[in-house]
Amino acid sequence: MAVIRDVMPAFELFQPSTVTDAQKILEQYGRDAWVLAGGMDSFDWLKDRIKKPKVVVDLSGVEELKGIRTTSDGIEIGAMTTLSEVVSNPTIREKYGLLAQAAELVASPQIRNQGTIGGNVSQDARCWYYRAGWPCYRAGGNICFADTPTARNREHAILQADRCVAVNPSDSAPALIALDAKFVMRTSKGERTVDAEDYFIGPDIDITRLHILRPEDLLTAIRIPSTWAGTQFYFEKVRDRNVWDFPLLNVASAMAVSGDRIARIRMAVNGAAARPLRLRAVEDAVRGKPPNAATGAIAGKLAVQGAVPLQFNAYKIPLMRNLVKRAIGGVEEAKWAS
Ligand SMILES: Cc1cc2nc3c(=O)[nH]c(=O)nc-3n(C[C@H](O)[C@H](O)[C@H](O)COP(=O)(O)OP(=O)(O)OC[C@H]3O[C@@H](n4cnc5c(N)ncnc54)[C@H](O)[C@@H]3O)c2cc1C
Ligand code: SF4
Repeated sequence: MAVIRDVMPAFELFQPSTVTDAQKILEQYGRDAWVLAGGMDSFDWLKDRIKKPKVVVDLSGVEELKGIRTTSDGIEIGAMTTLSEVVSNPTIREKYGLLAQAAELVASPQIRNQGTIGGNVSQDARCWYYRAGWPCYRAGGNICFADTPTARNREHAILQADRCVAVNPSDSAPALIALDAKFVMRTSKGERTVDAEDYFIGPDIDITRLHILRPEDLLTAIRIPSTWAGTQFYFEKVRDRNVWDFPLLNVASAMAVSGDRIARIRMAVNGAAARPLRLRAVEDAVRGKPPNAATGAIAGKLAVQGAVPLQFNAYKIPLMRNLVKRAIGGVEEAKWAS
């Protein structure tokens, strides 16, 4: 990639102090506006001069978007709560440790101190062709540079690709899906709440974004119900370097065991497709079975059904099979203790 010597393109900066004001500014400027949370993804785009918004809406002064609150049925995490706050929150660690573990494996301490949970689930794809400004499908062009015989696609998708083979890079997203979290948005029509898994979209729905937010929408909070509090959690992330690195793949599961059988389970993986995938077929297949290696093997095989590797990422198929297997069969040994 060429060295960029120009300064960041100029934009008009808005620093609202309420959600209502922030959403109104977004509504007014539409596609010309950019939401700024912790900036860990945003500043790359702006400084590399790949995205050039006319207006930036900085959410750092919106106090109502910050903090973790207990609700009548669980907790609510403001979108501007930092990943470090999520990791250290006593209630999250005690009851929803799956999320604390996932968030603690994001990037590095400095990035977790600055990056927010809202930004982590709304961040863009890390495909280097796209991020270097190549005019690919996701950038509005009509080619995928990562899906050619000589392309560098070791980190790309093995499932549900549609023209674009980029993956969703978030570590917190699969944990939130496993915990059955709800995402709360402020739109021009008022508040809207969706299941975590429905927040994320693939290129078949919209190839230019990884989530359902439209330019005038704000993610305001994430609610986690108590349904899965204190169940058996498993989170595993595989990456090239043990710090400051995105997942090649990760898996998150919440499982309630009754006697020696799996009574309830939710499981999701990320890094395999453009959206984090909830593994419903796996959940259905293992319910009522013992949480052991044999059940894990069944689950692993099911999880990778339909996977199509690119030139350099076939390793992701056995990797995903084994992560899912361990999430079930290895849960006792790997149970995370806070
Ligand atoms: C070197 C490096 C390593 C990283 N490693 C990992 C990793 O291992 N795992 C991982 O999961 N992440 C990783 N990240 C990503 C990092 O965690 C995210 O970039 C960060 O969480 C984004 O959060 P932010 O608050 O900085 O958001 P920003 O960068 O400000 O925003 C990210 C995107 O979300 C949008 N957005 C943010 N908040 C809202 C909101 N409330 N409503 C609407 N839109 C919003 C912004 O417009 C922008 O498009 C890494 C980042 C870097 C730079
Ligand atoms: S994988 Fe997606 S983001 Fe990357 S070059 Fe292909 S179309 Fe663009």
